[in-house]
Amino acid sequence: MIITEQKDINDIYEMIKDYNKILIAGCDGCCQPPRSINEAKVLGQLLELKAKTEGKDLKWRAITVLRQCDDRIAATTIRPFIEEYDAIVSLACGLGVVMLNKVAENIITYPAQNSMFGGVQNAGDNYFIQYCETCGSCLLGETGGICPIAGCAKHLKNGPCGGTVDGMCEVGGYTHPCAWIEIYKRLKKFNRLDLFTLYRPARDYRSSTSPAYIPINKDYTNIKEEKEEKK
Ligand code: SF4
Ligand code: SF4
Repeated sequence: MIITEQKDINDIYEMIKDYNKILIAGCDGCCQPPRSINEAKVLGQLLELKAKTEGKDLKWRAITVLRQCDDRIAATTIRPFIEEYDAIVSLACGLGVVMLNKVAENIITYPAQNSMFGGVQNAGDNYFIQYCETCGSCLLGETGGICPIAGCAKHLKNGPCGGTVDGMCEVGGYTHPCAWIEIYKRLKKFNRLDLFTLYRPARDYRSSTSPAYIPINKDYTNIKEEKEEKK
């Protein structure tokens, strides 16, 4: 899931203050904490109040999209509304905002969120945590399922630095575990310390440069076209 944080209401208002009618689009996809219809309505009310303090009557409507990052779902949900509105405010992550600007190209979509990271919800620890940085060359098979790229503050690939104390990382003042101590414990538990001592070359950033493109699996999306081609 994409972990987001809502922008300051004043910053959102600043982006849309010159418009009279805005569409506020929540996203029911993986964006966390939830940014769906209820959050869209609350944002609309806050923006309306903010506009009133400036002597302005802002009209708004809240909707939600199943997944803003899917072009077909985004287009079919958004297009029936766009003629009526001057601008869109998206509560999705950055992917959703870019997608709405693509599928509804004659109206600007503004972001209401800051996208923080792709992460997991670890309710036991009461955190959303970044467990993977999508580096394009997964090492988890050598590290007992704990990622040193996302988990180590210095992105070290060959064991801990000198800053670990009692299993905690110096970065952040010993508040988070050292990823490499966790990796050691995990590999030891499964009698796989042979993996711990492997040499891992420096990260190859070519596998994670932007913009990244991967063809969508033909078997999955283009199956109909393929069948028609064969006829
Ligand atoms: S090594 Fe870490 S950052 Fe890279 S793909 Fe695997 S989990 Fe993600
Ligand atoms: S203490 Fe551990 S997690 Fe922190 S930077 Fe050093 S090796 Fe990485």
